[in-house]
Amino acid sequence: MESLGDIMRRGQTQFSVLIVVLLMSGLSGCISDEILFQNEESRGIPGGLAMACLDSSKYTKLVMEIDYENGYQPKSSSTDMLKQRLEQVCDKPDGVSISSTETIFGKEGSWTSDDVRSFGWENKDNQPRTDSTLYWQILFPSGSYTDDSVLGVAVDASTIAIFGDSVEEAKGPIFGRPSAEEVENSVIVHEAGHLLGLVNIVYQSLSEHEDPDHPNHSNNEDSVMYWAIESTSIGSIISGELPNEFDELDLEDLEHMKTGVVEVSDQLWTP
Ligand SMILES: [Zn+2]
Repeated sequence: MESLGDIMRRGQTQFSVLIVVLLMSGLSGCISDEILFQNEESRGIPGGLAMACLDSSKYTKLVMEIDYENGYQPKSSSTDMLKQRLEQVCDKPDGVSISSTETIFGKEGSWTSDDVRSFGWENKDNQPRTDSTLYWQILFPSGSYTDDSVLGVAVDASTIAIFGDSVEEAKGPIFGRPSAEEVENSVIVHEAGHLLGLVNIVYQSLSEHEDPDHPNHSNNEDSVMYWAIESTSIGSIISGELPNEFDELDLEDLEHMKTGVVEVSDQLWTP
């Protein structure tokens, strides 16, 4: 198979076509739209290790590596919930576990997707696929994303960042509901959902639940994949309970991917 680099080297015309294709594919919002320009295919795109999680024939264990800057450690309610949600959908007979490390990223100022990728990979304890274990990583750095209305971003098949200062600002204006902790609970599950390929990143759902105005996000405000979960305006959009679960259609999509009912693309590993 030719690489993206080969395609891009073919010239300006094709390059323009590629841009159009990228725009059409709608990788936007909290999903990095720069990922496809990266000439490092082994890192994949968000959802590129979805099958490695949903299937247990090779990878029997999932470890979530959490690398946090001093003062930015996620709440245990967030990591507990993340573990629970992943156990619900990923087939991992040897379990899902969380491995947290305080990390000095040595970076000031705002973060781009490229920063998340390079500081992420520099600090990964293991390659994403090591023996029979799948490793996914979440950075909790100080500082915010270049677009400071973004709470979290999934930048490749195994790497996420969540921006604690922005999460703190996203809490609701009325009596602090939802609280910053509730926002963090939802965002951590939401970003993991992107690594699972939700919504329509590496497959096409048989149900119409992708929000046409917010590609790769759900149109159901009761789904954790609801588009507003990624945004600092979440607190003013939903003032009550925030969704922190995959809804029925999200779960159905994952089941369809796992069982081969829908075709799954861009996988770094397939059963
Ligand atoms: Zn999102």
